[in-house]
Amino acid sequence: MRTLLTESEIADRVRMLGQQITGDYQGQPLLVVGVLHGSVVLVADLIRSIATPHQMAFVRASSYRGSTTVHGELVTTLDGLPDVSGRHVLLIDDIFDTGRTLERLSQEIRARQPASLRAAVLLWKRERQEVASQPDYFAFEIPDEFVVGYGLDYNGDYRHLPYIAVLEADDLATPSSN
Ligand code: 5GP
Ligand code: MG
Repeated sequence: MRTLLTESEIADRVRMLGQQITGDYQGQPLLVVGVLHGSVVLVADLIRSIATPHQMAFVRASSYRGSTTVHGELVTTLDGLPDVSGRHVLLIDDIFDTGRTLERLSQEIRARQPASLRAAVLLWKRERQEVASQPDYFAFEIPDEFVVGYGLDYNGDYRHLPYIAVLEADDLATPSSN
């Protein structure tokens, strides 16, 4: 594994992002909606830098894929979402890769008529983007490599790493039980 972003680089940028969001919403109450499971670490850190009053909810998205960046079927679940009508919603995910996950979730949430809807991500693989929309907030732009840590997994592992690392060929071959 090769470290791409260190713990302190992430902490600094996430704090800045929180300050930017605080400034943009100017005290209007927010509903922060994290996308399970990858956004959990970012949500936990980011909300502590957002001074605007806000509540938290989670939705689910999975595209049934392991290490590869080949797309499987995208399945979303909004069961955990409270009534968003008239509320300012900030959707948070770990990474904007093709953008299909955030585009789909945004469409589904927009249909429920929030006052506003924006999306924030930790990472943006800009060169992989396949949709017209872009994240409103992002902490880092990264190259097209498969990364883990800070919430991002490989077959369920590595989410707890406090840094972002690129998974290399040998790591992919290593069973998770080793
Ligand atoms: P998108 O729908 O934007 O193509 O993909 C978003 C989802 O794909 C992310 O929430 C994440 O679950 C997964 N994903 C995309 N790129 C990576 C990556 O480099 N590493 C990991 N662990 N997951 C990724
Ligand atoms: Mg995800």
